[in-house]
Amino acid sequence: MHSNNDSALVLFSGGQDSTTCLAWALSRYARVETIGFDYGQRHAIELSMRPKLLAKMRTLSNDWAQRLGEDHVIDLGLISQLSHTAMTADIAITMQENGLPNTFVPGRNLMFMLVAATLAYRRNLNVLVGGMCETDYSGYPDCRDDSMKALQVALNLGMATRLKLETPLMWINKAQTWTLAQDLGGQPLVDLIRSDTHTCYLGERGSLHAWGYGCGTCPACALRARGYEEFVSGAG
Ligand code: ZN
Repeated sequence: MHSNNDSALVLFSGGQDSTTCLAWALSRYARVETIGFDYGQRHAIELSMRPKLLAKMRTLSNDWAQRLGEDHVIDLGLISQLSHTAMTADIAITMQENGLPNTFVPGRNLMFMLVAATLAYRRNLNVLVGGMCETDYSGYPDCRDDSMKALQVALNLGMATRLKLETPLMWINKAQTWTLAQDLGGQPLVDLIRSDTHTCYLGERGSLHAWGYGCGTCPACALRARGYEEFVSGAG
């Protein structure tokens, strides 16, 4: 389905959500590029999955192979300099008194979008696609729809552009994210996401569960496993 001639830059981490967002963009836009961020994640597994995932995405559809362009990896090591959290340092994942998990890096998603906007400007891409989600989110305020809408306004004012920020997962849950992947790329895409995307906060890739690889107990694994169970049981 071609909705228009827009071109998109997808925030692509190599996880389930951003891989589904990439498929969504490849189904809509004539030209799609990807951006990933290296910010000293405590396990670099997610980043290391990206090239293989991108290569496999090209094999799923001739259209996708033609549309999928350059991949950009940006060093955002300043995030680990600025913030000491369970996302970048080797400390246990717990809930903080403010109700946010200590994996929270304040403003991280705002920074990602800002950096993506700067690259999109140079690459002449006019849509930014991100996997931010309010439905199942871990309480990250920078994933909220209002945060993204306000940022879109701020970016366009500050850069004199007409960028559109698209967040196709904003109002759906994890089970519906699997369903979206199935709608976009059928079983081959579901299988690819299951076996080649990485979500686990602990970087565990020992054994393949029904829902993919991971420790099975960290918040990211628990969310992914529950969503997959709902998806296959038809509850999504
Ligand atoms: Zn895990």
